[in-house]
Amino acid sequence: MRKKFPLKITADISLFFLFFIFLPVFVTVYLSRNAIKYLSVFFLSNILIAYILVRGHLNKKHRLRLQIQSLEEKINILTDENTQELRNKASLKEKIRRYSSLKNIIESINQDLKLDSIAGNLSSVAFSLVANNQGACIIYLVDQQTQRLALFKTEKEDKRLIVKAKEGDIFDAWVLRHISPLLIEDTRKDFRFDLESLRLSDTRPVASLIGAPLITDHRFLGILRLDSPRPSFYSQDDLRLLVTICDLGAIALENGELFQKTEDLAIHDGLTQLFTKGYFLERLKEECKRSFRQEKSLALLMLDIDHFKNYNDEFGHTAGDIVLKTLSSLVSETLEGMNSVIGRFGGEEFCIILPHNDKKKAHTIAKELLLKIEKTKITLRRKETNITVSIGVAAIPADAASDDELLLKADRAMYEAKHKGRNRVCDA
Ligand code: GH3
Ligand code: MG
Ligand code: MG
Repeated sequence: MRKKFPLKITADISLFFLFFIFLPVFVTVYLSRNAIKYLSVFFLSNILIAYILVRGHLNKKHRLRLQIQSLEEKINILTDENTQELRNKASLKEKIRRYSSLKNIIESINQDLKLDSIAGNLSSVAFSLVANNQGACIIYLVDQQTQRLALFKTEKEDKRLIVKAKEGDIFDAWVLRHISPLLIEDTRKDFRFDLESLRLSDTRPVASLIGAPLITDHRFLGILRLDSPRPSFYSQDDLRLLVTICDLGAIALENGELFQKTEDLAIHDGLTQLFTKGYFLERLKEECKRSFRQEKSLALLMLDIDHFKNYNDEFGHTAGDIVLKTLSSLVSETLEGMNSVIGRFGGEEFCIILPHNDKKKAHTIAKELLLKIEKTKITLRRKETNITVSIGVAAIPADAASDDELLLKADRAMYEAKHKGRNRVCDA
């Protein structure tokens, strides 16, 4: 397309021709004295003036072009800055959203005292808040007995996928060894990890991941990790949020552990690890209610060691404690798989609930137990000894209409066994 001259330049040229060419020619010809001489002087001076004017104009044009360029650059920079600002604003909004929901969730986790639900909630929170429920989230907790990682809970976008690495994979081992967070943008490009061993431990596609330790001042509790089949799925911001979740979650987990320990101590007898009397009576009430509701029988055994005072007197209190522990293990082993509930009722008195057993079946079980106890040799001070027990049996609905009555009947039956000469089973 042809470029149009601006109006101002066209006017300048017209004036130039009028004042510097036509007018001098006209005046000179009109005066007609030394016309050629004056004309030459005029033309030369006019050409000089024209040159100066055109140069000035071109310089001005060049300066304007430079100004336009620098303004365009400034506009570009400002546009970039604006786009960046908009991005920052959006990410700040997202951060505010994440952290405010995190605050509420962590508050609710801290109010929870059950270890299982705390750990479960932590993995759900991390999965939804950090990963938008995409990929997978795994929580590993340290097994107190083996001191190794054990898979506790998984959340998956694709429910069909199975996490095979039950004790964690090479990435979890890294977090465990370094006790620090880990971000891998692309597992195929990270030379620190051997992908072959990863393929052997798990078949799930893992292209990127973030993981952080669950750690308190005192202990390493486990690992919370997110992974995705897509590379570069997680950012540094995501990792920072995961670390915050882990830091707060670890405190909640430790509280849960302490609560569980306290609860365990409250319901388990310190010497025998059997249930305490208080907890046992609660369970008896529940089990009796269930039996009446389901119209099923339930039996109760009351067991007391014969002449245990003499045993203590002869071998000492510590030896007596060993006998109590041995007897507890023996009873637990014998009744394993019967859904029994065993409690230490007093010093050397034990009580056993046998759900879904009538009096006849319970009598047979009691007799078996009695014989086994009598036959078991306990070596104390290089001397082989043994104990005998007296057992009372009562059952619902045959003997009682309530848990209290059942307890009374079993106790009476046990005293009857004592009166009849000990080392025997008596029914209510
Ligand atoms: P019986 O056949 O009539 O039941 O006689 P017994 O000696 O077993 O009964 P008694 O109630 O007279 O004595 C119970 C003894 O149990 C008294 C106490 O020394 C002992 N005992 C209670 N609790 C413990 C304990 O935790 N450890 C030890 N070593 N002995 C205990
Ligand atoms: Mg006794
Ligand atoms: Mg007793």
